[in-house]
Amino acid sequence: MRKDIHPEYKTITVHCACGETFESGSTSDEIKVEICSKCHPFYTGQRKNLDKGGRIDKFKKKYNL
Ligand SMILES: [Zn+2]
Repeated sequence: MRKDIHPEYKTITVHCACGETFESGSTSDEIKVEICSKCHPFYTGQRKNLDKGGRIDKFKKKYNL
């Protein structure tokens, strides 16, 4: 049997863009993600506010306010 057919599945540290790290199982040595359960809008509830702000900014730019 060839060894490289089945990469080793191990516990690694996942680094999120928000600075949070958590452990996860992977065949990679390291994983970087842009969003995690700590900063995900679904969990933080900030998405509504962010979207609202973005829309207002666009509106202001569009009409030069
Ligand atoms: Zn995060």
